[in-house]
Amino acid sequence: MDPDEFRRHGHEVVDWIADYWSGLHDRRVTPNDPPGTVTARLPATPPEYGEGFEQILADLDTVIAPGLTHWQHPGFFGYFPANTSAPSVLGDLVAAGLGVQGMLWATGPACTEVETVMLDWLAHLLDLPPRFRSTGPGGGVIQDSASSATLVATLAALHRASGGEWRMSGVTRRYRVYTSTQGHSSIEKAARLAGLGDDGVRAVEVDETLALSPKALRTALEADRAAGVVPALVVATIGTTSTTAIDPIPEIGEICREYGVWLHVDAAYAGAAAVCPEFRYTHSGLEYADSYCFDPHKWLLTGFDCDAFWVADRAELIEALSVLPEYLRNAATESGAVIDYRDWQVPLGRRFRALKLWFVLRWYGVEGLRAHIRSGVQLAAWFADRVTADERFEVAAPHPFSLVCFRLRAGDEASSELLTRVNATGRVYLTHTRVAGRYTLRLAVGSPLTTHRDVALAWQLIAELAGQDGPGHVD
Ligand code: PLP
Repeated sequence: MDPDEFRRHGHEVVDWIADYWSGLHDRRVTPNDPPGTVTARLPATPPEYGEGFEQILADLDTVIAPGLTHWQHPGFFGYFPANTSAPSVLGDLVAAGLGVQGMLWATGPACTEVETVMLDWLAHLLDLPPRFRSTGPGGGVIQDSASSATLVATLAALHRASGGEWRMSGVTRRYRVYTSTQGHSSIEKAARLAGLGDDGVRAVEVDETLALSPKALRTALEADRAAGVVPALVVATIGTTSTTAIDPIPEIGEICREYGVWLHVDAAYAGAAAVCPEFRYTHSGLEYADSYCFDPHKWLLTGFDCDAFWVADRAELIEALSVLPEYLRNAATESGAVIDYRDWQVPLGRRFRALKLWFVLRWYGVEGLRAHIRSGVQLAAWFADRVTADERFEVAAPHPFSLVCFRLRAGDEASSELLTRVNATGRVYLTHTRVAGRYTLRLAVGSPLTTHRDVALAWQLIAELAGQDGPGHVD
């Protein structure tokens, strides 16, 4: 494809995406086809000779789009949102076109420096403690996901807990990671990857708001210490996956300081809310954290993948992860004056993800991002009010952000049936969880295309289907 062909087909692709977004309302949110449907539409082998671009583009309509769960659909309320936006897509397109691999400052000076500045911008935007900024001892980096951020934090924490031995000797003692019973599954995975084994994580009890109990944390730390286990890491969550509970970071931070344990704060979804001053209360106590992350790819209009991860002391992280083979040696690295992000993550290579962030932050500006967060929170609050006012339903947990957990009073079977019926319509998509053992529906607002009309339609549908005969019916 020569540059002129690229220009022409590139315009066609952008047109295709724009049409896809404007036509989302008319599609089902999820496909209705059995597994294997997309595979059956694809040839078993690649084409012997190149095909025309028209054919490739046409197959987006016939093969790909019908087989998608449409995450950007205004009726998508499942999991947590995975926002994207036009500026993010365009930033990603430029990054793809540049094809820069920014493992070292020397292999991508702009790739590295824009990333450092974007993470400082985000730290400013969220009003994070000054020590996370690159101008102090800390700094930020883009990871592919919050899961990778947790893994990297786990490795750095082990390095610290071992007194710097881990780098050379690996896991030679019994170390443990602590999180609440509501902590994300990536914490367990990170501990396993780090070699801590299946009992590497202790799930600490929560209180009635589903937030980690500091008292239970202290008891767990004491018991482990007495048994010769070394507490290495506490992962506190701002906005847990099931219900968006907020762990009490100030109390947890005090305990971590007392026991000398690394505190990582996982705000994967809810961190974005701190762009609004009225939600900064959820981040209080962050000055205790050794590391913190949130996903702009969840709720800040930046397409997957983009996790923003900060450490309070970059030297510790780099010491834990740095490997410098001869073929990567260069004068800039040796000068000590540059950041080489390869030392801040698991893979060596990295693409120019900061570009999409740069596009997003500049296109929306701080106020534009705040408007997006506020709209999600307001729509969720409106929905929660409808649920509360309908005596067949109950709200199952506090909803400080844009997720509402709710269920039918009639019980688990009724709620599960309702979810099946609602999703079967293809007009909205919800997911579920269990809150204190009870089956609970989750409605998370977040797509930039979702308006009041869409949330009102979702409620109308839910209320209607809850009224149908069957286990969901309550008089
Ligand atoms: N942490 C929390 C609290 C989450 O809710 C999630 C995903 O929803 C994750 C971590 C994992 O996010 P990622 O897909 O970026 O690894």
